[in-house]
Amino acid sequence: MNSFNRLIEIFSDFPGIGPRQAKRFVYFLLTKPPAYTGELLRAIENLKNNTQTCSSCYRIFNKNGGMATLCSICSDRNRDHSLLAVVSRDSDLESLEKSGSYNGLYFVLGGIVPILENDPEKYVRSRELFTSVEKRIGDGLTEVILAMSANADSENTGQFVDRLLVPFKERGLKISLLGRGLSTGTELEYSDADTLRNALKNRK
Ligand SMILES: [Zn+2]
Repeated sequence: MNSFNRLIEIFSDFPGIGPRQAKRFVYFLLTKPPAYTGELLRAIENLKNNTQTCSSCYRIFNKNGGMATLCSICSDRNRDHSLLAVVSRDSDLESLEKSGSYNGLYFVLGGIVPILENDPEKYVRSRELFTSVEKRIGDGLTEVILAMSANADSENTGQFVDRLLVPFKERGLKISLLGRGLSTGTELEYSDADTLRNALKNRK
């Protein structure tokens, strides 16, 4: 495969990008001077070198040259350790943070489970979540909030997590669902602060 087609293939893998848009990106890059593409390459390299995954919530955070394995949220003693919001992606976590109405901790699943999928564990960090909840219960966790977008696959993911955590329900853990002030089809990522605040307040 030539480099033109290879790059189209790579961009087509990006979320929300189809082959036609991918081709536009490649033509765009061809109009740019070498300094631009050089900077793009360095930025991509640095992205991997300067970030790491939190060992507790699995969100991606900036290393800033430090040796920390916990992100700033997990290492913040002022956060409410009795609440754990389970989200699909980092971008959902960021939306909740930006809303300013949530002070608990998070767990990033790293994906969504498509409807009718026979092997859900392939898509999300289910074993890690189970282990994490088990440990957190010892540390005072009382409620898990399923913070999913309002579309079929995300709701399916919420149901999967709900079933996964059944053994902890029997031990008194509350599992709540973000209130549906979010209308059907709403991506958590694109919800405004007021909507998220209401959805948190109205969780059941
Ligand atoms: Zn963390």
